[in-house]
Amino acid sequence: MSEEKRTKRLARVDQTLCAACGVCMKVCPKKAIAVYKGLYARVEEALCIGCKKCAKECPASIIMIQEVDR
Ligand code: SF4
Ligand code: SF4
Repeated sequence: MSEEKRTKRLARVDQTLCAACGVCMKVCPKKAIAVYKGLYARVEEALCIGCKKCAKECPASIIMIQEVDR
């Protein structure tokens, strides 16, 4: 039996370091990341496609792309 590993790439924000600048929100093509209550960015996992755009543009470099099991 073949074992198919189903993984998905997701953005993860270190919320303790987020400056809530909103840059990630502006560059995300899927509207999958948003600043929550003006405090920190949150990723909507169902929408995120792991494209890394937010991670590249975040001025604080606090967004990591992780592989997670579906
Ligand atoms: S990885 Fe891409 S889709 Fe996911 S939150 Fe960042 S910019 Fe949006
Ligand atoms: S770009 Fe970085 S610092 Fe700015 S809101 Fe997004 S995660 Fe926070």
